[in-house]
Amino acid sequence: MNRPTASRFSALLLGLLVVPCAGCAAEPPPPPSPPTVTAAARKAPPPPEVKPVAAPEPAAPPVDDRFAKVTIEVQKVSGNVYMLKGAGGNIAVLVGDDGIVIVDDQFAPLAPKIRAALKGISDKPVKFVVNTHWHGDHTGGNVAFSNEASIVAHENVRKRLLEGRPAIEIAGKTRDPIPPAPKEALPIVTFEDSVSIHVNGEDIRAIHVPHGHTDGDSLVYFPHANVVHMGDDFTMEGFPFIDVASGGSVRGLVGAIDKAVALLPADVKVIPGHGTLSTLDDVKKFSAAVKDVVKIVDAEVKKKKTLEQLKAQKVIAKYDDLGKGFITTDSFLETVYKELTAPPAAPTKPAGAAPPAKPATTPTPAH
Ligand SMILES: [Zn+2]
Repeated sequence: MNRPTASRFSALLLGLLVVPCAGCAAEPPPPPSPPTVTAAARKAPPPPEVKPVAAPEPAAPPVDDRFAKVTIEVQKVSGNVYMLKGAGGNIAVLVGDDGIVIVDDQFAPLAPKIRAALKGISDKPVKFVVNTHWHGDHTGGNVAFSNEASIVAHENVRKRLLEGRPAIEIAGKTRDPIPPAPKEALPIVTFEDSVSIHVNGEDIRAIHVPHGHTDGDSLVYFPHANVVHMGDDFTMEGFPFIDVASGGSVRGLVGAIDKAVALLPADVKVIPGHGTLSTLDDVKKFSAAVKDVVKIVDAEVKKKKTLEQLKAQKVIAKYDDLGKGFITTDSFLETVYKELTAPPAAPTKPAGAAPPAKPATTPTPAH
């Protein structure tokens, strides 16, 4: 496939690229008014070419009910950067004359509400969507926003969206399989290490941090506003979820946070993947807890303890406060234990990784 690369990025930034219409019939048109938005709403531009195709909503009201009462809270963070909270991952928003940039876009059914919230901040179109990783609570709105925006993400985000995944067990619950995402949901600009977006007087940097929450994580930094969106490598809602099936690892997450702490100014404002607006000190505290858990479990593993013994002994009970959310204390303990006791493996192959293009004359590592 002939996809745009970072080297062609400047063309995108000039606004010369006409993004193919998504034809996103699944999304209903935006509601007539933005009831939850505080900023003064200006005259809305004409609605995009969303055709009033009847959505098959009567078939699945319980699913939609999940989002019916969700409101999108808008919080000004710094400069022209805002944080949106609704259901799913937090959204960072940069507004300005060049258009809106959003980082992550929650679940698909929330796109009209997100749009309404954005209109309360700016009447410009959304020009860029950056995905911090591939999970559906961060990329669900991609289809809706692809009408007007270019979607940017690490290449493994595209690969995993393209592939979907079978049903798996996460934190003791079986999760439904995820079908391959439609073309409109896919990032059209991908990068390996980092990419910059120069709009609205900002020099936004999306920086890949490998194998933490998933293998496609990026933190997205707005240096002029001094704000960072950490994706799900950092959460204010308890223990981190390590999506091992998506190439995540606890030690990778620790490394990702170390990288972020080394890179970011001490007074940076931190948008976590989930939870309230935070500081770098919050990130350090979170990281220290994760590192301590790894240290505690590692010491027990060296004593040949079993997972069941560690659970029975409640070896990380001092962090029980972090285990009250999505990831319980035992679930996180299990993740760490399994990682520390796993045999040394070859580097995780990224989703959809193609075989080496050149014939291997010598046995080289996969990475
Ligand atoms: Zn996630």
